[in-house]
Amino acid sequence: MRVLKFGGTSVGSVENINKVIKILEDYEKSAQVSCVVSAVGGVTDKLLKAGELAQQKNELYIDEYNIIQSTHLNILSSLIPNYSNEVITKLNDKLSSLKSLLDGIYLINELSPKTSDKLVSFGELLSSFIITETMKFRGLDAVRKNSQDIIVTNSNFTKAEVNYSLTYKNIQDYFKTAKQRITILPGFVSKSETGEITTLGRGGSDFTAALLAAALQTDSLEIWTDVSGMFTANPKMVKQAYPIEKLSYQEAMELSHFGAKVLYPPTVQPVLDKNIPIVIKNTMSPEASGTFIAKAYTSNGLSVRGISNINHIALLTLEGSGMVGIPGFSKRLFETLAIHKINVVFITQASSEHSICFGVNENESELAKKVIDTAFEYEISLHKINPIYVEKDLSIIALIGDNMKNHQGISGKMFSTLGKNNINVRAIAQGASEKNISAVIAEKDIKKALNTLHEAFFEVKTKQLNVFITGVGNVGERLVEQVKQQKKYLKDTLKINLRIVGLSNSRKMIFNDDGIPLKSWKELLNQGETASLEGFLDKAKQLNLRNSIFVDITANEDVSNLYASYLQESIAVVACNKIACSSAFNNYSNLKYLSRKYNAPFLFETNVGAGLPVIDTLNNLIASGDKVTSIQAVLSGSLNFVFNNFNDTNKFHDVVKQAQSEGYTEPDPRIDLSGVDVARKILILARESGLKMDLEDIENQSFLTSKNLSSDSVDDFYDTLIADEAHFQKLYASAKANNSQLKYVAELNNGKAKVGLKEIPQGHPFYNLEGKDNIVMFYTHRYVDQPMIIKGAGAGADVTASGLFADIIRIGND
Ligand code: ADP
Ligand code: ASP
Ligand code: MG
Repeated sequence: MRVLKFGGTSVGSVENINKVIKILEDYEKSAQVSCVVSAVGGVTDKLLKAGELAQQKNELYIDEYNIIQSTHLNILSSLIPNYSNEVITKLNDKLSSLKSLLDGIYLINELSPKTSDKLVSFGELLSSFIITETMKFRGLDAVRKNSQDIIVTNSNFTKAEVNYSLTYKNIQDYFKTAKQRITILPGFVSKSETGEITTLGRGGSDFTAALLAAALQTDSLEIWTDVSGMFTANPKMVKQAYPIEKLSYQEAMELSHFGAKVLYPPTVQPVLDKNIPIVIKNTMSPEASGTFIAKAYTSNGLSVRGISNINHIALLTLEGSGMVGIPGFSKRLFETLAIHKINVVFITQASSEHSICFGVNENESELAKKVIDTAFEYEISLHKINPIYVEKDLSIIALIGDNMKNHQGISGKMFSTLGKNNINVRAIAQGASEKNISAVIAEKDIKKALNTLHEAFFEVKTKQLNVFITGVGNVGERLVEQVKQQKKYLKDTLKINLRIVGLSNSRKMIFNDDGIPLKSWKELLNQGETASLEGFLDKAKQLNLRNSIFVDITANEDVSNLYASYLQESIAVVACNKIACSSAFNNYSNLKYLSRKYNAPFLFETNVGAGLPVIDTLNNLIASGDKVTSIQAVLSGSLNFVFNNFNDTNKFHDVVKQAQSEGYTEPDPRIDLSGVDVARKILILARESGLKMDLEDIENQSFLTSKNLSSDSVDDFYDTLIADEAHFQKLYASAKANNSQLKYVAELNNGKAKVGLKEIPQGHPFYNLEGKDNIVMFYTHRYVDQPMIIKGAGAGADVTASGLFADIIRIGND
């Protein structure tokens, strides 16, 4: 005999029922088969909803009934196009009994647990009837046996307890004489010893099948569902989750107890007692090997086998200085809960003598509070303890594995991983058997927590980065292109899964937490919602993705004002915008502080020297104990371009125009030409070297005329450049006469910084600096005579984009 169980989705459509029949047809050739079926997917919920509406005197229960009715009639007529009178009459009889029951509930305005069981039992009764009739119609040797005749329980309605000896005997007696190749049985439903309809609890069809397998001592119990086994985490929440090949009974039980709905927890015990393995299979892809659950397995080396979660949890805390003296305190507490049938899902290990903290399902929390406050009324009145304190909107997340106890450091890794992602842990419990470590966290963080932990324990090799880019102009566009080009390489070689999940320009913004398809990002962005800086931040917060990175490719102060808000959410910030790092010292140092506090990197390599690794090198020098004594640098790609191209055959104005049109200047070229941009850069280097300095502390000897400096628009500025051409020609002529080149130089010496135009004589390292190149020379305690020199392209969209890219990858490699 083989025992199979098919769940709600498996019998939820004509197409799927055909798949079920195909599987049974194959099995029946080699063995007798017992097949337990659930209600058609969603029907149990609908029955409960109809009952609730009827009880509330809401006539909408009729609509729910009508949907249930038509669902079953449609399935029947598709499976058996010319059904007999007998079949349709039987189905209609069942449906009209259901309708009468609902009408009755409506009339008396009451839905007891007993009636509720009667009501939900219709789901399985209807599905098993239709499936059996279809099989008979197709010439298969099938019969239906009502489980209510063989599964005996107590009268604990909605989740009755099974009388094993009677049930096993009934099953064995029945199958002794059952001759049919296929027996179809409704799951979930049963009867009490006094003959009342009961059910085995939501998800209980798995349990029905386990009882059959145990009673009949079959070789295995097959649970057929809509996923290919028990996964490392709920596949609906964690895209990277994968089926676990083998599990021990204990592990399967722990995973299902902690929320892996794929197996109803009580299912394990009956088969465990008889040492019958459970196989979880996928009706939609029968060829997948699924999960094999048995007594012992050889570990594949992973000590954490799966991650589970339970939502809608409330945490209750009872505390007070007087608790120490109250005899039998815990006993009284848990007895009170047991009397009221309140299930305690979680007790913290840390319960001290003064306080005890435990978790219950949220919908039972008010009742729990009431009964405990009443039970301890006397002690509360004496102020020995405080009334119970309830916290809601929580979830439990649990790591599960038999071998966890042999591996130190798992809980450390769990909590540091959660902490790094700004997920606050409210309470912790480690099972005495050390087969699970669970934590209580806010329900809003559950998806992030599952994914982060999954990544940490199961995808050791890949790290997902979720990038939000604001400002997809020239540089931004190149960055997106580079990401598109490098995606595969990053994944294959660096094990970084880089996804752009948010994109914005000044007009529009788009989001996609699966990653924006980069082939069509421009069209998608054009059709996006209206952009707003706050809206972008809100969405990044709301998506709450792990390893989130905000990338600022604007030159906008309002954007830089939001960095603190991002960092506080543990969202890393990567900026080529220089405003924040060159703003007031307090702001700069606060951002650095927030970055440390919230474990969110704040990187701005492109603030100086575009893609050149200037800041990174400086940071490495300092981290390794070196000290900067002096910095000499040419830091403006645009000014270098201007002075390398300007001579007595062209006009200063035209060269500046060219620099702008080739994208080397800031959007407002005055920021470059006035020296402000270079001053900001040397300020940032000074600060990164450890100096407390502000922009006003930097001496800026401008080479512009007062007319240039007082222009009040970019156009006006260009006009003044034409008017003052003679001034610029004079600067050029002087340098030429001295055999020198004009370079705009930034210097830091003895804690003082200055920027200005200089005539650089032949032989100086700056003399031959070409095009838009930058050069930085660091003199340090270790580099005394020969400075550490970094030289290369210091402006341009491509190099800036690759500098941003490098910062993003730095975060990935962390
Ligand atoms: P059935 O109707 O076949 O009994 P269920 O809905 O009860 O199916 O259980 C299957 C569902 O369990 C999956 O579709 C999945 O959403 C959920 N699930 C939760 N955790 C896990 C897990 N760790 N592995 C597999 N499925 C899980
Ligand atoms: N139909 C019942 C439920 O939805 C039992 C089951 O499917 O296992 O809970
Ligand atoms: Mg189920």
